[in-house]
Amino acid sequence: MNVLKFGGTSVGSAKNINSVISILDDYSKTDKVICVVSAVGGITDKLLKAGELAQTKNKDYISEFETISEIHHTILSKLVPSEGDAISNHLNDKLQELRNLLDGIFLINEISPKTSDKLVSFGELLSSFMIAETMKKRGLDCLRKNSQELIVTNSNFTKAEVLYDQTNQNIRHYFSEAKQQITILPGFISKSEQGEITTLGRGGSDFTAAIVAAALNVNRLEIWTDVSGMYTTNPKMVKQAFPIEHLSYQEAMELSHFGAKVLYPPTVQPVLNLNIPIHIKNTLEPEAFGTKISNDSNGNSNAVKGISNINNIALLTLQGNGMVGIPGFSKRLFETLAQEKINVIFITQASSEHSICFGIDIKDSQRAKKAIDSTFENEISLHKIDPIIVETDLSIIALVGDKMKSHQGISGKMFSTLGKNNINIRAIAQGASEKNISAVISENDVKKALNTLHERFFEAKTKQLNVFITGVGNVGERLVEQIKQQRKYLKEQLKINLKIVGLSNSRTMIFDEGGLSLKDWKTNLASGEKASLNGFLEQAIKLNLRNSIFVDVTANEDVSNLYAAYLKHSIAVVACNKIACSSAFENYNSLKELSRKYNAPFLFETNVGAGLPVIDTLNNLVASGDKITSIQAVLSGSLNFVFNNFNDSTKFHDVVKQAQKEGYTEPDPRIDLSGVDVARKILILARESGTEMNLSDIENTSFLTKANLDSNSVEDFYNTLIDDEAHFQKLYSSAKANDCQLKYVAEFNNGKAKVGLKEIPKGHPFYNLEGKDNIVMYYTQRYPEQPMIIKGAGAGADVTASGLFADIIRTGNK
Ligand code: ADP
Ligand code: ASP
Ligand code: MG
Repeated sequence: MNVLKFGGTSVGSAKNINSVISILDDYSKTDKVICVVSAVGGITDKLLKAGELAQTKNKDYISEFETISEIHHTILSKLVPSEGDAISNHLNDKLQELRNLLDGIFLINEISPKTSDKLVSFGELLSSFMIAETMKKRGLDCLRKNSQELIVTNSNFTKAEVLYDQTNQNIRHYFSEAKQQITILPGFISKSEQGEITTLGRGGSDFTAAIVAAALNVNRLEIWTDVSGMYTTNPKMVKQAFPIEHLSYQEAMELSHFGAKVLYPPTVQPVLNLNIPIHIKNTLEPEAFGTKISNDSNGNSNAVKGISNINNIALLTLQGNGMVGIPGFSKRLFETLAQEKINVIFITQASSEHSICFGIDIKDSQRAKKAIDSTFENEISLHKIDPIIVETDLSIIALVGDKMKSHQGISGKMFSTLGKNNINIRAIAQGASEKNISAVISENDVKKALNTLHERFFEAKTKQLNVFITGVGNVGERLVEQIKQQRKYLKEQLKINLKIVGLSNSRTMIFDEGGLSLKDWKTNLASGEKASLNGFLEQAIKLNLRNSIFVDVTANEDVSNLYAAYLKHSIAVVACNKIACSSAFENYNSLKELSRKYNAPFLFETNVGAGLPVIDTLNNLVASGDKITSIQAVLSGSLNFVFNNFNDSTKFHDVVKQAQKEGYTEPDPRIDLSGVDVARKILILARESGTEMNLSDIENTSFLTKANLDSNSVEDFYNTLIDDEAHFQKLYSSAKANDCQLKYVAEFNNGKAKVGLKEIPKGHPFYNLEGKDNIVMYYTQRYPEQPMIIKGAGAGADVTASGLFADIIRTGNK
């Protein structure tokens, strides 16, 4: 004898019902089959909604009823198209009965739990009827038996308890005499001893099947649904979730108790004692293995088998000094909850006994508060304890696995993973059996928590980075192209799954939670929504994705003013924009602190030397205990270009013009020539070496004339360069006479920094610096005489983009 249960989706359309029938046909060729069916998918909810509308005197219940009626008629007409008259007449009669019941609820303006059960019972009665009749029509040896005549319960309507003695007897007796090869049973519904219709709780068809399987002690119970088994976590929340092949009964119970809806929690109990395995299978993909739940050893499986979540949780806290050391408080508390029939999902008590904290369904929270405050009225009035505290909008997430107890550090990993993603934990519980570690978190964080924990425990080797890029001009565009090119390599070689989730320029912005397609990104961006800096920030916060990274490829102060907001939401910031790091020390410092506090890396390697690893090397030296004593550097690609091309046969004015034309200077060349840009860079290096410094502390001896510096427009500036040609020629000839090259040098020595033009003698590492190259020499305690030297192209879109790219990857390793 086989017992198979098919859920709402499996019987949700004529097409799926045909798959069910073909599975049953196959099974029945070798053995008798009992098939338990749910209501057509979504019908139980619709019945409850119609009842609710009728009860509140809202006539929309009629259209809800009509939808229910139409769904059934449509399915039936597709299953038995030509010969459906008798069957559809019967369907109409049943639907009329339903309509009468709803009209009655409307008239009396009331729906008791008892009436509610009667109402929802129509769902399973209708589906089982349609399926059985279709099978008969197709010549299968099939009969429907109303399970209300088999399963007997108490009168706890909406979630009745089974009276097993009578139930088992009924089932055994009926099936010992049943001759048909296939029996269809409606799931979920039952009857009380008094003959009233009861139900087994939402999702209860699984339970019906387990009760029947246990009563008949069959070889296995099969639960057929719309997914290929019990997944490592809810597949609707985590794309990477995958089916777990084997689970123990305990693990399955824990996962389902903590929210894995695919199995109704009470289902395990009846079959567990008899060691009947449960197999979860996919009706839409019968060849998939699914999940087998049994007592078999799980082999070398993961210690953590699955992660589940329950939403709509309220956390209640009973606390007060009067509780310490006095027995009986928890007894009275939980007795009160039991009397109110409130199910407690989660409990923790601090070892100080000063407080007890427990989680319940949010819908019970006000009732619980009222009852508990009344139980402890006396103690509350004497200020021995406080009125109960209720917190809402919470969820419980749980890690489950039999073998977790023999693995150290799992809870540490769980909480540090959540902490790194700035997910605040309100309460923690770990059963003594250590099969389950659960935490209460905000409901807003559930998706992020499940994804990040899943990544940590099941995709140990891959990490997803979710990138939001603002500013896709020259450098930004190169960055997107580099990411596009490297994605496959990153995934395969570095196990990094890099997704660009948001993209913006100054005009438009686009987002895709699953990762933007980079094929036609420019066209897509052009037709995106209107760009807004705050809108971009808000979207990044709202999506609340793990490992989110904001990349600033602008030179805009308004963008850098938002870094703090990104960091406060644990979104890493990667910037080539220098403004934030060279702004007031307090601002730079507070961004660094936010980065530490919220575990969100703040990286700006490209602020100095474009793609050269200038800052990363400095950070590594400092982190490993070295001390920077001096930094000597040539940090301006534009000034290098100018002094490499200026000599006695060129004109200073012309060389600067050419530098600007070739894109080596800012649109206003005074920013480069005045040395401000270089001063900002050495400031950042000084700060990263641990010195508190501001731009105004940097000595800047300009090689420009007063007239150059006083010019009030770019044009005016160029004119003064022509006037002062002799001044520049003097600088050149002096250097030449000394056999030196002119280089614009930034220096940091013993806590002081300066920038200025210098004559560099032959043999010095700066002497032969070419083109737009940069060079940085670090003198440290470990490198006292021979400095550590970093040299290479210090400007250009491609190298800057690759520096940003390296920072993005670096955030993933932090
Ligand atoms: P049925 O109608 O067949 O009883 P349910 O809707 O009750 O199906 O249960 C199946 C659904 O459970 C899946 O579609 C999935 O969305 C949800 N689910 C939640 N957690 C899990 C999990 N860990 N594994 C598989 N499914 C899960
Ligand atoms: N139809 C019922 C429900 O939706 C029972 C079930 O599907 O298991 O809750
Ligand atoms: Mg179900």
